[in-house]
Amino acid sequence: MKAVRYFGHKDVRVVNDLEKPTPTGDEVLLKIGGAGVCHSDLHIIDEGIVSGTVFTLGHENAGWVEEVGPAVKDYKKGDAVLVYGPWGCGHCKPCQQSKENYCDHQSEMAFGGGLGLNGGMADYMLVPSSRLLVPIHDLDPVIAAPLTDAALTPYSAIKRSLPKLMPDEFVVVIGVGGLGHVALQILREMTGSTIIACDITQERLDFAKELGASYTVNSKDSDAAEQIQKITGIQKAKAVIDFVGATSTIELGTKIVGLDGDLTIVGLGGGHYEYNMMGMPFGVSMTNPYWGSRAELIEVVGLARQQKIHIEVERYKLDEAVAVYDKLRNGQIKGRAVLIP
Ligand code: NAD
Ligand code: ZN
Ligand code: ZN
Repeated sequence: MKAVRYFGHKDVRVVNDLEKPTPTGDEVLLKIGGAGVCHSDLHIIDEGIVSGTVFTLGHENAGWVEEVGPAVKDYKKGDAVLVYGPWGCGHCKPCQQSKENYCDHQSEMAFGGGLGLNGGMADYMLVPSSRLLVPIHDLDPVIAAPLTDAALTPYSAIKRSLPKLMPDEFVVVIGVGGLGHVALQILREMTGSTIIACDITQERLDFAKELGASYTVNSKDSDAAEQIQKITGIQKAKAVIDFVGATSTIELGTKIVGLDGDLTIVGLGGGHYEYNMMGMPFGVSMTNPYWGSRAELIEVVGLARQQKIHIEVERYKLDEAVAVYDKLRNGQIKGRAVLIP
């Protein structure tokens, strides 16, 4: 079968000589409908954050059940499913609570399919346990794949701040890409707060307006923080969700977040922040959430089935993977690119 393989630092190739796996025990073999192309893949490819192993990329996957291991009782051939991405041990307390993204054993294990183990940029993908599947019913697996990360990650990040995001408050989204464009829609649907979006091109800022932002600010402007403070007034933003995570965006966040607010850094841009007691308003929670829980993925499917969130999908073939990564690197993907076998 065909697959997009990571061979090491800056070395990604499409191969056509892998064997179609056979599921045993509780494993499930999926025929892939779509595999989303996440910016985290670029951190793997360009920065080598997962090293010493060759694997198939793609951690944002959906498809149809092709074959089940003998222990699988609840799925049959043809069922449309999402693959929950952060694969935990399945037994520790966070995993029992469905929060495999915070599995106690994370430091000892590969992060999941497409993140050290074989992922879904292939004709077929072997999922190690049926517990990692979420049915999508009438949704199309081709366009549902990004729900597993581009939607789940912002959903989980936003849920942390929900009790604070009342209609008199402001929330700022930094980075209107794969994750950020879904974050805007989740905020629009789940909070009454006024949404401000930041990105670095006018095209992305216009896109943000279509998705629920009332205001947009170009974060490249040297006075971006002042522009945002002019909108929020003295109360500042109750939550800032940073989908870039560069030093400049973290610094912007510290300037625009208000007292008792949340500064949530989702982006893995390698930014630094030197803690300083007076560098931020009192009571701010700064967090670095990782992905979301299995239960939250079920909730995300609910949002999508009600058509409350729509993922802007650019469709490509598996063979185009290397070119698609180039496009993503150059900021040329609007919404999410999905590879379709
Ligand atoms: P993307 O490339 O689709 O989108 C990034 C967006 O940020 C683009 O619109 C780009 O124009 C914008 N941008 C770049 N620099 C900016 C700046 N200085 N100010 C404002 N906007 C800027 O990326 P994505 O797939 O949405 O991923 C976003 C980040 O989140 C990546 O770092 C990725 O690795 C990370 N991520 C984290 C998790 C997690 O669980 N913590 C999960 C998935 C992705
Ligand atoms: Zn991702
Ligand atoms: Zn665990």
